[in-house]
Amino acid sequence: MRAHEAGALHGDLGQRGPAWLRTPHDVNALVPQLWPRTVTRSEAGHLEIGGVSVAALAQEHGTPAYLLDEDDLRSRCRDFAGAFAGADVYYAGKSFLCKAVVRVIDEEGLFLDVCSGGELAVALAAGFPAERIGFHGNNKSVSELTRAVEAGVGRIIVDSIQEIDRLSALAAEAGTRPKVLVRVTVGVEAHTHEFIATAHEDQKFGFSLAGGAAFQAAVKILDEDVLELRGLHSHIGSQIFDTSGFEVAARRVLELQAQIRDARGVELPDLDLGGGFGIAYTTQDDPSSAGDLAKRINKIVESECEAASLRKPRLSIEPGRAIVGPSVFTLYEVGTVKDLDGLRTYVSVDGGMSDNIRTALYDASYSATVAGRASAAEPILARVVGKHCESGDIVVKDEFLPADVQPGDLLAVPGTGAYCRSMASNYNHVPRPPVVAVRDGASRVIVRRETEDDLLALDVG
Ligand SMILES: *Cc1c(COP(=O)(O)O)cnc(C)c1O
Repeated sequence: MRAHEAGALHGDLGQRGPAWLRTPHDVNALVPQLWPRTVTRSEAGHLEIGGVSVAALAQEHGTPAYLLDEDDLRSRCRDFAGAFAGADVYYAGKSFLCKAVVRVIDEEGLFLDVCSGGELAVALAAGFPAERIGFHGNNKSVSELTRAVEAGVGRIIVDSIQEIDRLSALAAEAGTRPKVLVRVTVGVEAHTHEFIATAHEDQKFGFSLAGGAAFQAAVKILDEDVLELRGLHSHIGSQIFDTSGFEVAARRVLELQAQIRDARGVELPDLDLGGGFGIAYTTQDDPSSAGDLAKRINKIVESECEAASLRKPRLSIEPGRAIVGPSVFTLYEVGTVKDLDGLRTYVSVDGGMSDNIRTALYDASYSATVAGRASAAEPILARVVGKHCESGDIVVKDEFLPADVQPGDLLAVPGTGAYCRSMASNYNHVPRPPVVAVRDGASRVIVRRETEDDLLALDVG
């Protein structure tokens, strides 16, 4: 922002704010793509979710709390299942998993990915059918693999030669023939933050395609015959908006598929192209609908199959964030407001990096709005921070809030359904917030708030 504009904004960022935040926007407006579908701002000015006001929810459940719009979650499941009819949609449980969500995923007919014994335990505890579970991970332990085999999970996505050996030994002993996919590193770098891009060569996941390791792994599984090789798997990263990465990935994986056919005479029946579909965290993000993604991805797979003279395998995809991310917002209460003259306004809330590490970890951008009332005050560019003993404890780097934002205000941060509760910590011994599902005018706790007693219960010294 140039100096002559700065006067319009109290607490502006000078040159430091992103360009798109140089024009204040209406602090009361809700941009639909950022919010769960039932969220509205009432005539009285407060937000409502599932027909319940945030004030009532704060009163009943306290803050901070993750508020889940159950209708929104179900409609996103249906969007993906409908758009990808003829393919299998695996919900990536690592984005957020609890028994209630597992049941929603089951009822909506989706499949489920887990990537640890703990996630598998949640899925099984909720009664999810094991044959619709995929098991991921670059370092699955023998005991995790044993449980997966015993439970009869539908597919195990193998990630190393050691894992193939371990799993083969387990399968021989158990007298079963687990279905496996080979995770292939296709050398595509998704257009996203470096730490969440997982298909370039220099990273821990998968078998390298370029180096020939992926081909060798597939041949080893076919030769040993203890495992049933169902197909190849590729996951190129997260928060991806541009499908050209999937095009390159599909082409490379299908070239490998053709190479395996030529060498061993088998066409593998399944193909998994992973997840990573982007969602809107700010007004600058413009995600594709499930329908558009399905059209583009199916077209890519069909044309690449044609080019390699392959039958079209049964496709699967693994969205996590795109299903649960937009269904949740975090409700905080403002505790302090500090206006550092000429620098920045800091608005502190009663949570922070322990309930949302993504800003600190990935430099992620979020949005926020005062949720308990509308305001006619001028917009100020503010930074929303948490209560932790760490200056990097930032929730929302830059957002326009009304100049009269004050202690006691409720503040809502949308897009927190994925990788927030699932990555939550107890830093500073702050108990983790509850997840509250709201639907048809009623709310229910699906993950309760942690208490200091919970924390002390682990401390057995
Ligand atoms: C994390 C992950 C996903 C889900 O990613 P989203 O960005 O949440 O869609 C899917 N597949 C694999 C293998 C993953 O590791």
